[in-house]
Formats: sequence, structure tokens, C-alpha cells
Amino acid sequence: MIGAVDIGGTKIAAGIVDEAGKVLARLETPTEAARAYPDGLKHMVRLLREAAKQANTRLSGIGIGSTGWVYPFTGEFGDVDFLPGWKGCNPVNDLASEFGVRVALENDGDASALGEAAWGAGKEKSRLIYVTVGTGIGGGIVLDGELYRGVDRAHPEVGHHVIDAFGPECTCGFRGCWEALATGPAMAAWFNANAQATSRHPQALTAREIFQLAKQGHLLAQEAVAREALYLGFGLANLINLFVPDRIVMGGSIMKSMSLEQIRKVIAKGCRFVPFEKTELALASLGEDANLIGAAQVWHHRFRQSATGAA
Ligand SMILES: [Zn+2]
Repeated sequence: MIGAVDIGGTKIAAGIVDEAGKVLARLETPTEAARAYPDGLKHMVRLLREAAKQANTRLSGIGIGSTGWVYPFTGEFGDVDFLPGWKGCNPVNDLASEFGVRVALENDGDASALGEAAWGAGKEKSRLIYVTVGTGIGGGIVLDGELYRGVDRAHPEVGHHVIDAFGPECTCGFRGCWEALATGPAMAAWFNANAQATSRHPQALTAREIFQLAKQGHLLAQEAVAREALYLGFGLANLINLFVPDRIVMGGSIMKSMSLEQIRKVIAKGCRFVPFEKTELALASLGEDANLIGAAQVWHHRFRQSATGAA
């Protein structure tokens, strides 16, 4: 039984996940309550203990998936926008000494990629890319069951490749990154700016509301959705041109409302020098608990490897 911790921008969740990737207990607390690291640690310990009690089990290890810049092999936190007070702190060491078990940490995009690869829509695919589209775009790359890492074991950022050099400003320093064009807030910003130009008292809408309006036949909303499909398609086409993976698994709130068929049509307009039609697009299959399940798989991925000497 693995204790799983998901550290996100709005909440910190913890749970117990069994050997088959099933969540047996789950608890959460707002991230707001954990701005200071000692509070965050206290909450994580409490949530894990309560979850273990609910599932009537003892932890044999702990896996963590976290937003932002983290150092998987030292366990240290880097610059995380939501948790500035955590910089330099080390939940891996602290939870290991608290519970007396081994603890592993990865970026949450990598954690979800590992979860989908082991237990979800990426099963038995040797070249897999996982992409999540919500308030940001993140993801991970899994090759033959191994997480792809860059130099210094860095996590690659699939959301930050430039699609329109004159597009909206991105948090990374460039303009027009995939993340600056195809997230929910990017879609809403475009819609709201254009609604302002055509209506006298427009109300700022969220991506979810725009999807609903589009279904009701609202023309500008339909245009926003078509534009969303176009930018999602461009980003995926870039990944396909660069990697030609077996499958790309798509998760995140935006994907609940998008048609893969519409995105495929965008990809088919280009990509003529690679067998793009062989890259399957699939929706993530682990559901609401995907992050926790991914966090548990972080532990299996790290320590099963070292058990066989492959790390
Ligand atoms: Zn960027």
C-alpha cells in the first residue's frame, strides 16, 4: 500500500493506493493552509495518517507528485509559484523520517504520465506522451516504461514551445507559447476581449461557460472553441513531428469539452513527413484521482527500478 500525495495550486490531497492503482482512501486540504512549509508538512502527515487509518493499512512507501519546479532526486523544492515558502525544503526526507519508509518525488506532469502509462490509457505503449490542458499545459514523456529526463535529470516543459511569436505574453519569457494560447484562461481571455468589442456590457466568462454557450449556438463562443481546437492541434502536431509517439494521452479540464476528431483534422493539415495517422490520440482514463494514482506510481517507478538495478 502506497501513500500518495498530490501537491497542487489549489489543494493538497493524500490517499492510499493499492498495487493495482486503485485509490482506497482520499483526503485533502486547501493549499492556502500550507503556505508555510511547517504547516504543509503537518497537513501532509495528518492526511496520510488519516487515510491509512481509513483504509485500515500501513504504508509501505510514499510517492509525491507536485506542481512546479522540484528536484526529484534530492527531494528538494525549487521555485514553486504557489508555495514560495517551500523553496529549499525537503518533504522527501521529512516524510521518510516521519513514517520510516522510502519516499519518491516527481513533477506532477511526470507523475500523471507514469500513472497513465502503468494503469491508464497509456498501458503497453512504448512511446507515450501525456499532456494535461487546464489552467496550464503540462505533461511528461515515458519511453519503454521509463520517464524521459533531460540534462541534470530535468523535467521537459511541453507547454512552452512557441506557436505564435507575436501571441500573448507567456510566464516563461516568450510570447505565444502553447500554454499562452491553448489553456482555459487563454481561451477565455480571447473570447472576453472579442465579446467586449461587439457587446456593450459583456460579462467575463470562463472556458466552461464558453463551451456551454457554443453548444447553444453562440457564434463567438463557437469561434473560440474552433480556435481552441486549432491551437491544441498545432501543439500536438509539433509533438508528433518531434517524437512520432505511439500514443498521446490527453487529460485536464479542457479536454472534457473538446472533440479529438476536430483536433485530428488540424494535425492532418500538416505533419506530412511523418506517419502522423499512426500516433493515437486518447483521453486520460484515470479520472478525478489521476494525480494521486500518478503519485503512487512515482514510488513504484523509482524503487522497482532500483530493486532490479536499472536505476
Ligand atoms: Zn512559455
